[in-house]
Amino acid sequence: MPNIINEIKLDFKDVLLRPKRSTLRSRNDVNLHRHITFRNSKQTYNGIPVMASNMDTVGTFEMAKVLSKHDLFTCVHKYYTADEWKKFAEQNPDVLRNVAASSGMSENDFNRLAEIIKAVPGILFICLDVANGYSQHFVDFVRRVRAAFPSHTIIAGNVVTGEMVEELILSGADIIKVGIGPGSVCTTRMKTGVGYPQLSAVIECADAAHGLQGHIISDGGCTCPGDVAKAFGAGADFVMAGGMFAGHDQCEGEVIEKNGKKFKLFYGMSSSTAMQKHAGGVAEYRSSEGKTVEVAYKGDVQDTVLDVLGGLRSACTYTGAGKLKELPRRATFVRCTQQLNTIYS
Ligand code: 5GP
Repeated sequence: MPNIINEIKLDFKDVLLRPKRSTLRSRNDVNLHRHITFRNSKQTYNGIPVMASNMDTVGTFEMAKVLSKHDLFTCVHKYYTADEWKKFAEQNPDVLRNVAASSGMSENDFNRLAEIIKAVPGILFICLDVANGYSQHFVDFVRRVRAAFPSHTIIAGNVVTGEMVEELILSGADIIKVGIGPGSVCTTRMKTGVGYPQLSAVIECADAAHGLQGHIISDGGCTCPGDVAKAFGAGADFVMAGGMFAGHDQCEGEVIEKNGKKFKLFYGMSSSTAMQKHAGGVAEYRSSEGKTVEVAYKGDVQDTVLDVLGGLRSACTYTGAGKLKELPRRATFVRCTQQLNTIYS
């Protein structure tokens, strides 16, 4: 007989943050920086823990430069060569503290990662990203990367349950990427029926990770700055977004003009677009679990960054959290039947 979890699990859209009496005078009193020491690498981080996803349209060097100016982080996609990394690092030494080099778990990926880290010793973070972080093969891969790079901070994912968060942390990862199915260009839930409501996944995985002095990233499903605030309120140490950072000047791809309107292409990393681009076609053994969409052109990403940071500061003010770190302690989520008033949208 199949198991059924009867307790309701929630997505961002199912809740709102309840305001609380506070002594904060203004949004400017809020500190969004976090100072973190990682469990396994023993390295420290100080920044605003909002991240651009390692998707090839969004996790670009151009994005990293602008985001880092505001102390935000970029998981750079895995398709830059060691030479490109070297040039980037020479020209932007200050940005390195706010980027990760990404890798999948193939032999090719590992070799490419090793080559990049050899070329740019200043890289501090490694992002190991696979669609399904539940395989023993991935756990072994995390162990192998930890053994090869003992003092790098390792991000690993994606998973959505506490037991797998613990397994990956105990295998050497520092930060676990949480999210299966919530992404804006993800079709996993439709193609496979697999997933987990993101807010509940974050609450449960944060609890598991923090119990071991590990950390988590809420990855995917943020549609607006309010969702980013909810993810932090749920206990995420970092929040990663793809779609919210898509469509900007700093994204890879040309601006498309149609009927007087401007767009940019945005697609999932396992969409047929990405597979055609990087692997020369959709491999037969897997279905494409990503969409390709044209998103409205949004100009400089700096405006979006300021919008997200403004929203976060305001969420902290409403809930009385003087620091981002305090938001989970101050957060009470109210379940709702309507998140937004959509009459004019
Ligand atoms: P968003 O912020 O756009 O809602 O979600 C971004 C996240 O979606 C990424 O960081 C990644 O975890 C996930 N993602 C990116 N491409 C794909 C894909 O092709 N398929 C699936 N299932 N997830 C994807």
